[in-house]
Amino acid sequence: MSYKLQAVRGMHDLLPGETCRWRQVESLLIQVLETYGYQEIRLPLVEKTELFKRSIGEVTDIVEKEMYTFIDKSGESLTLRPEGTAGCVRALIEHGLLRTPGQKLWYQGPMFRHERPQKGRYRQFHQLGVEVFGVPGPDADVELIAIGWRWFRRLGIEKKLELQLNCLGSLGERRNFREDLVAYFSGHLDALDEDSLRRLKTNPLRILDSKNPAMQDLIEGAPRLLDYLGEASRSHFQGLLDQLSALGIPYTINPRLVRGLDYYSLTVFEWVVPSEVIAQGTVCAGGRYDTLVEQLGGPPTPAAGFALGMERLLALLADSKTPVQAPHLYLIRVGEQAQEEGLKLSEWLRDVFPDLRLVLHLGGGTFKAQFKRADRSGAQYALILGEDEVTKGYVSIKALRDSQPQRALSRDELLVFLNQLCKQPN
Ligand code: ATP
Ligand code: MG
Repeated sequence: MSYKLQAVRGMHDLLPGETCRWRQVESLLIQVLETYGYQEIRLPLVEKTELFKRSIGEVTDIVEKEMYTFIDKSGESLTLRPEGTAGCVRALIEHGLLRTPGQKLWYQGPMFRHERPQKGRYRQFHQLGVEVFGVPGPDADVELIAIGWRWFRRLGIEKKLELQLNCLGSLGERRNFREDLVAYFSGHLDALDEDSLRRLKTNPLRILDSKNPAMQDLIEGAPRLLDYLGEASRSHFQGLLDQLSALGIPYTINPRLVRGLDYYSLTVFEWVVPSEVIAQGTVCAGGRYDTLVEQLGGPPTPAAGFALGMERLLALLADSKTPVQAPHLYLIRVGEQAQEEGLKLSEWLRDVFPDLRLVLHLGGGTFKAQFKRADRSGAQYALILGEDEVTKGYVSIKALRDSQPQRALSRDELLVFLNQLCKQPN
């Protein structure tokens, strides 16, 4: 018996109706990054498992439960990347790029996490990541946030998102906080779930990141990391807040924000949808990771970055229309001679107008059948080559989106017409 082959659970096809919109959004995001002087880096989808254990942290949801890890044919433990920062840092160290200070990079592509699939949470999802290396001050944090703010304004969704900030301080500050946190949770052992009981011993800060609704009241009452910060951390955080205010970028401080990865220090931030407009409200998240490069064997290099979740961004944009790039022309050809004439005409028009979106009808059929296909393609005009057109050396053009009458054009008139058409926005 045959069974229907299906995609892996939580991994999705992007169909032609969606890809166009994705590309439009991606190109806007990338264009903004380029105006800020960020350069693309392309990284492998697979890395050694050890890289993620040493960077994200052994006692995190990602490393404990979510990684796609396998032994390859040479007996090596490899993992499909669950995020991009670790691989990016690995590449910079490996290629000695950190000798050039102030690297500003972006990357995009699929990430893999074995999570419970639900709306806004997939096992293969896409991130656009942005990273700055070698800048210790809050000006790097501010620039990363300003990029997000510019993206969201360009996309017209800045009012739907809230920027949440917190400061995680330094390792030493977190150590003091950790002691008090353990004391607090130890006084409420019966209210801790299984994960949190385990983490109390291994990585108590992670309890604050729990998604379990039953734990939220307890977490709310826990000590606040912000109260444990020393002078240097406080002044970094204040510098960030001041510069955001100077730029008029609104923010809220969320003292419970810890993020799901261990490598963060000082600033952490998330862009979240406060209301239930989309499932899984965090669209974009990141922060500073000043010790990670050294931890992975590189020279001491402060760094900061964030990743934008593309599926969640696209879900948020779903109600605002971005126009699909419909073809300008659909070329209909009927009759023996029109086949070759039409083919040559279409290739010649592509030579003359590199931006012309022209669909050549393939596979024959009657005028009626071809017109139907032209209409369905969304094209603005049908360009028609029948027997009469070929014999007399002209082309007919018919508007498909309004009721202008069909017209006959000489080749020269066609060029003038298409010149105008290609200049119109979309
Ligand atoms: P969450 O708290 O929602 O699990 P996270 O803290 O694990 O997110 P990061 O690792 O910081 O997320 O990834 C940055 C962004 O990538 C998230 O804000 C989100 O937009 C997106 N993202 C993360 N995991 C998924 C997933 N499984 N499916 C879709 N998008 C995701
Ligand atoms: Mg997660």
